[in-house]
Amino acid sequence: MSTATIPATRRVGIVGAGQLARMMHRAAIDLGIEVLVLAEGPGEAAVRGGAAHHVGSPERLDDLLALARACDVVTLDHEGVPSAHLRALEAEGVALRPGSGASLAAQDKLHARRLLGDELGLPVPAFTAVDGPRDVEAFAAVHGWPVVLKARTGGYDGRGVRIVGGPEEAAAVLGGGGSWLAEACVPLDLEVAALVARRPSGEAVAYPVCETVQADGMCRELLVPGALTPELAARATALALRVAEAIDAVGILAVELFVSRGELLVNELALRPHNSGHWTIEGAVTSQFENHLRAVLDLPLGDPGALAPAVAMVNVVGPPGGGDPAERLPAALAVRGAHVHLYGKPARPGRKLGHVTALGVTAAAALATAREAAGELMAA
Ligand code: ADP
Repeated sequence: MSTATIPATRRVGIVGAGQLARMMHRAAIDLGIEVLVLAEGPGEAAVRGGAAHHVGSPERLDDLLALARACDVVTLDHEGVPSAHLRALEAEGVALRPGSGASLAAQDKLHARRLLGDELGLPVPAFTAVDGPRDVEAFAAVHGWPVVLKARTGGYDGRGVRIVGGPEEAAAVLGGGGSWLAEACVPLDLEVAALVARRPSGEAVAYPVCETVQADGMCRELLVPGALTPELAARATALALRVAEAIDAVGILAVELFVSRGELLVNELALRPHNSGHWTIEGAVTSQFENHLRAVLDLPLGDPGALAPAVAMVNVVGPPGGGDPAERLPAALAVRGAHVHLYGKPARPGRKLGHVTALGVTAAAALATAREAAGELMAA
């Protein structure tokens, strides 16, 4: 085939093929960008959504290198790539975005706490490294029970977070193995997220700060702008931009924060498109997925502004009884104004399978619409 007829394309390699890669692929189509995802197999959400894929494992450096050789840049849709592999990719000259140093802030919660709290001087919950139950008891003697124990790596959606009320419970958690840190259990007025997109050249844009509502450690609902005061929202935005610059983030950086007794505390970071930015697909001028692609390719960033006075997003989670929300699609589509997303993943109780976004003049109206459609899907 003559290459003269093939337009110049940019190709982004994505390690991981879940719903985030699926939604990045969708954004890539609009820009004439190709994506190639590293998938364990053809059943993964991004591949089912039509993304070209290379079969392999993020645990195998050879598979990562094969992906990188076929692409201009490599980015990630999860935190599960060993950091030694990320460093090895960079040593091979791969344009890895974000880089291995920045990614570590999302992979290791103890590293993140030290970086944010000790090095950058940002407000974080009191924390300590934990080697055994005695360390937890000593921490509780100062900060009181309950104590929040967090797995240093591998946790998501509240897996890897345990609130323990006393020494026996702490010993039971630590006895299960793994590497943990202890945190003071802080009273939560609100949970919020500040998302920014940043290019290698340093240009950065910030999305409106949103309020997230969690149940059992998992985000269930989200509101823009939410119940945050404009003053705290401005501080959260400034803080997220500062973190992005300090760690040299490239792509989307999501900063999850607590509002505790009227003050902001940084909880954790994600260096990839994030659940708290799914509302931007229909609710913002430029979605987080598009801005992630623009950023990793060092292209001009898009306007992050909201398109309505209020936007709500409700996650679609596998119902406890085990039904499949996809079977309830007609009922959800009958809800006017609801933007339904299903990820094409096998249904399991408690698993994120999709989300619904609605725009409104008021938060109450947007939330009512999104809840109605998501409720139909989860009534399965
Ligand atoms: P994950 O990485 O699994 O999402 P998080 O660190 O975000 O874990 O914790 C999950 C949820 O647990 C938070 O959204 C919050 O509701 C609660 N939580 C976490 N840390 C604390 C803390 N120090 N004090 C009170 N609640 C906390």
